[in-house]
Amino acid sequence: MNEKIVIKSGRVLDPASHLDEILDVAVIDGKISEIGKSLNAEDSKVINAEGLWVCPGFVDMHVHLREPGQEDRETIASGALSAVYGGFTAVCCMPNTDPAVDSVGAVRYIIERAKSAGFAKVYPIAAITQKSEGKSLTNMASLFEEGAVAFSDDGRTVMDALIMRRAMEYARGIYTNGISAPISLHSIDENLARGGQINEGKISAILGLAGIPSCAETIAIARDIALAELTHAKVHFAHVSTKNAVQLIREAKSKGISVTAEVTPHHLALTDSELIGYDTRFKINPPLRSEEDRAALCEGLKDGTIDAIATDHAPHTQIDKDLPFDSAPFGTIGLETAVPVTYTILVKSGILSPLKWVEALSLAPCTIFNLPGGKLKVGAQADITVVDPSADFFVEPDNFKSLSKNSCFIGKKYSAKPVFTFIEGKCFSLCL
Ligand SMILES: [Zn+2]
Repeated sequence: MNEKIVIKSGRVLDPASHLDEILDVAVIDGKISEIGKSLNAEDSKVINAEGLWVCPGFVDMHVHLREPGQEDRETIASGALSAVYGGFTAVCCMPNTDPAVDSVGAVRYIIERAKSAGFAKVYPIAAITQKSEGKSLTNMASLFEEGAVAFSDDGRTVMDALIMRRAMEYARGIYTNGISAPISLHSIDENLARGGQINEGKISAILGLAGIPSCAETIAIARDIALAELTHAKVHFAHVSTKNAVQLIREAKSKGISVTAEVTPHHLALTDSELIGYDTRFKINPPLRSEEDRAALCEGLKDGTIDAIATDHAPHTQIDKDLPFDSAPFGTIGLETAVPVTYTILVKSGILSPLKWVEALSLAPCTIFNLPGGKLKVGAQADITVVDPSADFFVEPDNFKSLSKNSCFIGKKYSAKPVFTFIEGKCFSLCL
């Protein structure tokens, strides 16, 4: 077919090669064929990218797609479409579906459903323990061989330290390309957090809601840093939300322990003060924290303690979110707002350079989970995200492609939006 596309005169941002320059990017047959100045665009489809940022495809290493089991909230196809519209070329989906992704058949099912949908790439994360119950380990080696890219019991914490140790030891021994299988940890001490609804602090006291203390996170993370040091496993901390956790991870990294971390757009942008109206859209786990925590998360990204930005996209139906506060489920969707929210909070404000921001959304998640992509280089698959940094973005639930509308950003205004997503050269033109 030899279809050629030339993305003309964009600001090409490639953190892997420290490239930040106005250039053209040519794509032939799904691969990047050339990057340079004034490329020949004869017989090509030309995309004028003047004023736009051309980045390696963004990868969200933490989403919940709800299929199998809760297809009224999201399906693999609707989630993968939502990803494309959010500027993501690939997502990694958590295994806390119904049933949980603890079998080879479930891993295969996700890969096949994603392929037939034809939107963003979907990489399954398999459960650490059977049914994610924290009791007995899954057959991690076969799950990995089938295509799982990491292990997690996200939504739950593996509370038994011996089981966690064994999981890390097994993961350490499973390799692709000489790299051990990563484990992504939801780190909240479940006993300490039991019954908690929001961050424990002034706001929970004012509202009369049970709190989840920030030390529920630091206790769990401290344990797993100790286990990472013991086992030499590749340990990744999901949705870090507190200042003290950032400090623990900073110290662990300085000691050479193999840990990485991600932060969500909502923890970077919002605090528990949003909860004053008892709006369940802000009921999230880990909870929105204090301003001090929020600032520490931004600082952690800036100094490299936190590696990646991931959305923890967690779709819920309106009926569920309309339940009384104590009964409503935790979570916010995030795929279609991550680019504007994090651009505004991190880049527009001057906290991160454009290259560092792009790295947290592309190269870092690919490196941590050993995924293809994350780089703009000749010969690589053409997974590309093109962002308009000068656009205004108003968060309107009607525009979401996700089946769920439970966004904590509704009604807020941000800057920048993705305008094209290329997946192996297939161009999705967004909101134009
Ligand atoms: Zn989680």
